[in-house]
This record gives sequence, C-alpha cells and structure tokens, in this order.
Amino acid sequence: MTIKATNVPARGELDIPALKAKYREEREKRIRKEGNKQYARATEDKEFKEEYLHDPHMPVEPREAIEEELEVAILGAGWSGILAAYHLKNAGITNYRNIDHAGDWGGVWYWNRYPGIQCDNDAYCYLPLLEETGFMPSKKYSDGYEIYDYFKLIEKKFELGQNALFHTVIESLQWDEASKRWHISTNRGDKIRARFVIMANGLLNIPKFPGIPGIHDFKGKMFHTSRWDYDYTGGSYREPVLDKLKDKAVAIIGTGATAIQAIPYLGKYAKKVYVLQRTPSVVDQRYNHPTDPEWAASLKPGWQKERIDNFHRAAMMGRLLPGEDDLVQDFWTEISRNMAAELREEGIEETISIEEYFARREEMDYRVMERMRQRVESLIDDKETAEALKVWYRFLCKRPLSNDDYYDTFNLPNVELVDVSETQGVECMTEKGFIAHGKEYEIDCMIFASGFEVTSELESRWGIKTYTGRDGLSIYDHWRYGYKTLHGIMTSKFPNQFFLGYYQGGVNATTTEQYGAQGYHAAQVIKETLNKGFVAVEPTAEAEAEWVQHVRETLIDMTEFVDQCPPGYYNNEGQKVKDENGNEVYRNFLGETYGPGWEAFSAVMDEWRDAGLLEGMITEK
Ligand code: NDP
Repeated sequence: MTIKATNVPARGELDIPALKAKYREEREKRIRKEGNKQYARATEDKEFKEEYLHDPHMPVEPREAIEEELEVAILGAGWSGILAAYHLKNAGITNYRNIDHAGDWGGVWYWNRYPGIQCDNDAYCYLPLLEETGFMPSKKYSDGYEIYDYFKLIEKKFELGQNALFHTVIESLQWDEASKRWHISTNRGDKIRARFVIMANGLLNIPKFPGIPGIHDFKGKMFHTSRWDYDYTGGSYREPVLDKLKDKAVAIIGTGATAIQAIPYLGKYAKKVYVLQRTPSVVDQRYNHPTDPEWAASLKPGWQKERIDNFHRAAMMGRLLPGEDDLVQDFWTEISRNMAAELREEGIEETISIEEYFARREEMDYRVMERMRQRVESLIDDKETAEALKVWYRFLCKRPLSNDDYYDTFNLPNVELVDVSETQGVECMTEKGFIAHGKEYEIDCMIFASGFEVTSELESRWGIKTYTGRDGLSIYDHWRYGYKTLHGIMTSKFPNQFFLGYYQGGVNATTTEQYGAQGYHAAQVIKETLNKGFVAVEPTAEAEAEWVQHVRETLIDMTEFVDQCPPGYYNNEGQKVKDENGNEVYRNFLGETYGPGWEAFSAVMDEWRDAGLLEGMITEK
C-alpha cells in the first residue's frame, strides 16, 4: 500500500522562527507560578472529596469488614489491575483480590460515563487480548460503554473476578516485618494481610478541580465529568439525551480530551452553554468507521501485536520502518506517515541520516499544526471564536484529539466560547455563576472537565495517607526526589511490591500493551518467589542504583521540547522540580522513560527473566 501525506503546507512555506516565538508567547501567558497548587484537591477539599468518594453510577452496598490473609492484593481493577489478574491466573496463582474504589471493573472506563465518551486510540490496538477473547470492536474508536462491557467479557471468559472487592478505598498500606506481609486497611474497615501487593492504581484516578476563588459560594449545581450526574442532566450513559438541560444555562471548564467529547452534547441539549477555555486543544477529523467484517475475517494470528508494534513506531518512536505501511492511519501517526510519504517520493527514506530525519520531522510538526489552524478557520463561522480555538504549540505538547462535532458546536447560537487565557483561568465564582473579563455570567450548572492528578506529588495522586515499607520508610520520602526502581516495577525497602504504570521503564504507545507486559512480569516474579519458598523479595540497593543510573544515562532529554509547551499535566504545569542532586528537571507524566525504547526495554526484561528471575534481588526464606 502506498502511504499518502495529508494536505499540509509545503516545505519551507512557514516562518518557523516566528511560529516558535508565538508558541513561546502563548505558553508564557499561561504559566502559573502556583503550578499544581492552583487546583483544589479531591483528597483535601471537603466538598470535592465528598464528590470524589461518591459513586453516582452504582449504590454502595453495606457489607461486613473482611479480615484475611491473602497471597496477592491487586490495588485497582482498571486495565492494569485486570491484566495483572489475567497474568497471575495464567501463572497458576489464584489467591488474589482486586480491590477498587469503583463499583465494578473498568477503572477510568467505570468512572467516566460523560456523554460522548469514546477512546481516542485505535480500538484494535487499545482493547487488549483481542485474539485471546475473539472479540472485535464495533468501530475504530470504541464508545466508553463498549470498553466497559469488554472488561466484563475478559473477566468472565478468564474467570478473574470472583474475589474482587469493589467500593473499597485503600487507606493505608504498611509492610509488617514480623509476618512478612503487607497490612492493608480500607474505608470499609477491612484488615487484609497480603504477601504481595500489585499497585495497579492508574494514572487518572483522582479528579482535580480548578481552585477558583469563590468556587464554593456557587449555589447552583456542580460536578466533575468523571462523576457525571445524569439525574440532573437527563439521559443515560448509553443514551445521552440530556433533555433536562433544555431550560438550563451550563458552563464547562476545560477543553481537553474529555470536554471536547462532552461539549457537542451540551450544545445540542442545553439552553445556553459557556465553554470556558484556557488553552485550546487540537481536534482533527475522526474517521470513526465501523469495523469492516471482511477485513476482520482476513486477519492472521499475531495481527494485534503487529498492529500495536506498528502504531508504537509511528506514534512514539517517530518513524516507520523503510517501506512499512501505517496501519492505524490517524492523527497520532500523521507526522510519521507524512514523513515516510515524502521521503519515499524523494527516494531517500533509507539513506537520510537520523539527525536530518528528526530536523525534517520537526518542520513537519509545524506544517501539521498549521493544517489544524487552517481546519479551525474553515469550520468556524465567527472570526474571533476561530482565532481563540487555534492552537499555538507543537504536536504532543498536549494530547492530540479528534471529534467530528466539536468545532461545529461553536456555530450554534446557544454556544459561547469564553476565552479565559489572559487571566490564566476563570477569575472567580459567585453565588450565581462565574466572572470572566469583569462580567458576571449567571448559570445553573458548572461542569468541571478539569482533569486528574497526574504529575502532582505522589501523596496527592495516590491518595493513600500511610504507605510504608521496611523500617516505617514512607514511599513518599523514598521517592521524594525521583523514582528509584529496578525496571520501573519494584523498589528497594518495599518488599513484594510491584508498581504498574509510568515510573522508570519502557513506555509503549498503547497503554494496555505496557500494563499487560508489566502484569506479566510481576506474575512471573511472584510465581518464582513462591516456587522457591521465599517469603520476601526486593531489589538490592546496588541493582536498583544501577538501573536508575542506566535509565538516566539513556534518557532522551526532552527539556528543549517541553520548554516550548504550554502548561498542563503532560509537563507538571510547566514547572520543574528538584532532583536529588538539586538539578531542576521536568516531571514528565510518563515518568522516566527508557531512552532506547520499548523493544530494547522488552529485550532487557526477557533477558533478566531468562537469567532466573531473581537476579539483583534480596530473597528471604
Ligand atoms: P485535561 O487535564 O486534559 O484537561 C483539563 C482541562 O481543564 C484543560 O483544558 C485545562 O486547561 C482546563 N482547566 C483546568 N483548570 C482550569 C481553570 N482554572 N480555568 C480554565 N480551564 C481550566 O483533562 P481531561 O479530563 O480532558 O483529560 C485527561 C486525560 O484523560 C486525557 O489527556 C487522556 O489521557 C484521558 N482521556 C482519554 C480519552 C481517550 O479517548 N482515551 C478521552 C478523555 C480523556 P489548560 O490546558 O489551560 O490547563
């Protein structure tokens, strides 16, 4: 198949230095010196805490507190949690429990049920174990409920969930030296003593709220998108007909991945909608086609892995292999696809140097973002609104998005964009509404599409108050100045503990692929530890130090890129933090990523497992 470039401005056509200056200016305007402290925290603010703890989707049933000894506690029942359970079960370990705040499986796909919710990633990559389950997504980008239902399918097919404990929030996690177990206490009074703990607590589990002065003075309705209140708006998760909003004025704060999906529904149903925008998102066409049954029938075994690897190269490594097709063909892969198309046409795909490739790729980044600004202009009727919706930053400074209804919504007479970039957010709230540009806007409802705790301090984003390993060492102190891990999964002084997520290892463009590999790794280490009759296992300080040094030495320095990006959770609100040597570094939402890439990381892990699984570990009988 020939790869075709999208319709971007020609090479050399753009004034890149001028664009750079504009990007910087737009970034500087938005940097807030309080950084993450600008947000009201769901774990601290009394009223927001209530909302965060409340489950609008399912009633919390009373139950007796549990006291038990357990082999493995998996803290979380989202993707990383269910994939850990899957791999434990495959490894023959069945005495485990997933424990989750939610009322069911699904993690973010349990909580987030706002109207229009869909996954922005190609479903044929994102939904794990498709070949094992035989399931085929109905379309390229799944609706939220298709993903939620798929969790249940996995759980049932592989019989993973009989012990799962839902509507249960972990309050403390303490290593007990005498019993060599983790003591886990919960908000339901449970006392669980687990030999192993797998932290599968996710990246987007704690909502954050804008810390707008006067926010609690507002007398109307307020809710976060991850706790969507259909009783108030009308409609339901699977049929979001928001008919109760027909006489309501609604404001929504935020224009990120969540907001751009919900706003078209607000525009369609509410009497009046104010979209409070601080930084616009880049929103491309969706091309969400139904799955072609002929294509699905033609797939050969191993197709999902092949697709995931291809997507990873295009979206994360930044380059397709010579002659390789772009299987996913979406906005995430556009720059790599365009590069391949141009270089193939010039006949230099295989001979171009790495330096030249990435210099040209940078230019392609500006060309693609210019295409997006032209797209906004072509779709929005009102000039001022169009200007405000244009993005002035590089690709991947923020999450790239696609939606076919978002921009059209701003052409509706009941929808108004309120640009709050000059004041770095909404100025203040009052009893009746909000104030922007000195004017009070009366509203009935304020919806917070303001995101989640991602790069804030660990205490905040994990929400577990007491979390101690050996000798009462708090994980928050242990990792105060950066992660210290072996393979990004285990850490010294915290025996029998595994961290799934973004810490200090390989990152795959498909999150579920990464979580699955981490769950597999944890299951293999646990199995080996049990088989050998050990009661505790943890990395040696030396092995850990070696890994940390190796990761830092191979880390790709993204400072220059991040310096050009507007603040957000991708870059810790544009704020650097001090590392243990006192250097100022950006805290990346992907953690410290293994520089040589996912394939190289996977090879390191394979080699380590082949060498006996416990190399560089302290084991105790
Ligand atoms: P984000 O953190 O991406 O967006 C939060 C939004 O709130 C931003 O637009 C932010 O503006 C705005 N905001 C925050 N505070 C204020 C304020 N005081 N005044 C005005 N605006 C404010 O959260 P989302 O929930 O949209 O997305 C979070 C993540 O969830 C995504 O990046 C993605 O990883 C995931 N997601 C994935 C989806 C998928 O399809 N797979 C779909 C939806 C979400 P600013 O940018 O200026 O900070």
